[in-house]
Amino acid sequence: MKETVGNLKPMTMKFPFKIILLILCLGCQDRDETFIDPSLQGLVDSFVYEGAIRGKKINPTGFFIHFEEGLLQRTGGVGATIFNNKKQDQILFDLEYFNQYPDRLEWVFFHEGGHAWLGRDHAQQKLSVMNTTLQQDFDQYGEPFNREYFLDELFK
Ligand SMILES: [Zn+2]
Repeated sequence: MKETVGNLKPMTMKFPFKIILLILCLGCQDRDETFIDPSLQGLVDSFVYEGAIRGKKINPTGFFIHFEEGLLQRTGGVGATIFNNKKQDQILFDLEYFNQYPDRLEWVFFHEGGHAWLGRDHAQQKLSVMNTTLQQDFDQYGEPFNREYFLDELFK
């Protein structure tokens, strides 16, 4: 009798502890997971490369990176970086917009990457990828010389 009681007590002590540990671990996993839409992998690699040749080591993890239908309609933006305390951090791109303007995706990807992995906020000066208005700067981004300028400014 004594032995049985002795065995049961530690069991009841350990059980809730295990549950709490499991919940904590699940919570961590949800937030730190990385998923990259295969069609965006090239841009992730490009971001890491352009950072590396400018002396910035980028670890492109911790986000769900994907296209979303209706993002522009819902938020007024063609891209979004969402830091979420309780759910998964995300980087989103409007599906319809970039189907129509695929050549603008790199610019917006680098803008969102600036938020996500460089901790950059929106820029006040005109000539920056971190500017919030796409059109006025995008026209100048296409030239090879200007692309270098914009990327130097982003990873400065
Ligand atoms: Zn932004």
